[in-house]
Amino acid sequence: MPRGPRYRAAVLALVAVLTGAGVSTESGIPDYRGPAGLWRRDPEAEKLVTYSYYMADPEIRRRSWLMRRESPVWSAEPNAAHRALVDFERSGHPLRVITQNVDGLHQVAGLPDRKVLELHGTTRYVACTACGARGPMAAALERVAAGEADPPCLECGGVLKSATVMFGQALDDQVLARAVAITRACEVFLAVGTSLQVQPAASLAEIAARAGARLVIVNAEPTPYDSLADDVVREPIGRALPALLADLRR
Ligand SMILES: [Zn+2]
Repeated sequence: MPRGPRYRAAVLALVAVLTGAGVSTESGIPDYRGPAGLWRRDPEAEKLVTYSYYMADPEIRRRSWLMRRESPVWSAEPNAAHRALVDFERSGHPLRVITQNVDGLHQVAGLPDRKVLELHGTTRYVACTACGARGPMAAALERVAAGEADPPCLECGGVLKSATVMFGQALDDQVLARAVAITRACEVFLAVGTSLQVQPAASLAEIAARAGARLVIVNAEPTPYDSLADDVVREPIGRALPALLADLRR
């Protein structure tokens, strides 16, 4: 990284970090929804997370709840990348994390909710598709364990689902608008563990670069935006991200 005056000026300015599936794989959570993710490669599994199938078929919902019960998310621990972001935030640097992940591990690691923007929602909560009521996933999974194959909303009886954006569902407009605003405002934009092939992640990297932010891409595979980046890092994320953040703190 060049160490000019611009770099010095940037260190206390806003750092935005876009995190994708690659950030959670080191915690034992596979890539489900990416272009080469598990769900995309298995049409039957993809139905469990596709809104139209989920709403139309109680059997899909029953299997979906079983899948949620068995998710590796519940036993996953934050890894070095998650912890490095928490250390960075606690050191007083302005930080916002925009994540494609639904596992909530940034918050489990210790980032305040208000600093994390979850583009695809979170699997740690459930939401009613009829009235919008939300509640903890853990309570819904207890109902499943107690014998309710497809637990309905306790408020209105509507179909309940994880508070994630399923295939076929639009992203939350407000979340997206905040992500774009953060991206435009930041001085440094780190895209970490994301293939940058899925919207809106891809467009965020481009917006950051066009707005003049320093764009750094940390990903095992090439991305379509590598040529726009000031830096491309191919090292494992658990090593690369702590090093990058330490550099920004200097
Ligand atoms: Zn409801």
